Amino acid sequence: MSVLIVGSIALDTVKTPVEEHADQLGGSASYAALGASFFSPVKLVGVVGDDFPESEFEFWKSRNIDAEGVQRAQGKTFRWSGEYAWDMNTRETKSVALNVFETFRPDVPASYRKSEFVLLANIAPALQAHVLDQMEKPRFVVADTMDLWIETTRADLDALLPRVDLLILNDSEAREMTKETSLIKAGRKIRAAGPKYVAIKKGEHGALLFGENEFFSCGAYPLEDIHDPTGAGDTFAGGMAGYLAAQGGDPTFADFRRAMIYGSVLASFNVEAFSLERMRTLQQHEIEERYRVFRSMSQFEVVT
Ligand code: AMP
Repeated sequence: MSVLIVGSIALDTVKTPVEEHADQLGGSASYAALGASFFSPVKLVGVVGDDFPESEFEFWKSRNIDAEGVQRAQGKTFRWSGEYAWDMNTRETKSVALNVFETFRPDVPASYRKSEFVLLANIAPALQAHVLDQMEKPRFVVADTMDLWIETTRADLDALLPRVDLLILNDSEAREMTKETSLIKAGRKIRAAGPKYVAIKKGEHGALLFGENEFFSCGAYPLEDIHDPTGAGDTFAGGMAGYLAAQGGDPTFADFRRAMIYGSVLASFNVEAFSLERMRTLQQHEIEERYRVFRSMSQFEVVT
């Protein structure tokens, strides 16, 4: 089953205490699409400006990412810039230039509308809803969000939640959204607002997954070197969605657990280099190898 992915496509400038790279491919949809493409074909919806490198379209094509839904608008591509502190987790947004993103309406090409699996990567919830409005009969909808929408467009976000099967957000966003300090209370409260499943990411501390009567907690892959944490969350969401779509039909909770590990594995590769550089060269066998290591690390009892 292919995954329709909508979100931002950006040229990012990222600074860490030791490195800085300007105008590199970024954006929630870019990370999510590449993450998902390791498991399922992707149909991408977004917008770029006339300064966007043509080579990225060639790259998408080579990775089974259909970019028919990427609009080419006159003007500059969306630009975002951020700087990380020494903990490589705390991040300050330095600048945002919406450019062609400002007037973006995500129109879904007719050939995409039958897609049964949809990932609404991080963009304004009203735009996420606009995409769902155009879909014929989506079977499974995954959505990502961020603090900006919780703070500025809360009513739109609340209206979207009952239309979502799996909501993915990070720990501080879950706390902000529910005004709960406990992530367990927060996860349950968000589920009660609509999504059948809620995944809460905790950065280097792993992730939690809430179902109706099910719960799963996993750690993060222990990495020595992190070069650029940008897009880890989007890659996690893309990997999870791509894996779930590849299972087809109705995913079981065991599928969700595996999807969370694959999402974590992909995110761990993504942060090993700037922008999407590590993901560009990543091979399937490296993903499987890290998945196996992850699994053996997570077993707390040896079953004979
Ligand atoms: P993450 O590190 O998972 O929070 O995602 C970072 C990516 O989100 C960067 O590549 C940015 O280009 C993109 N981004 C930043 N702000 C926004 C926004 N307001 N809407 C959509 N995408 C954004």
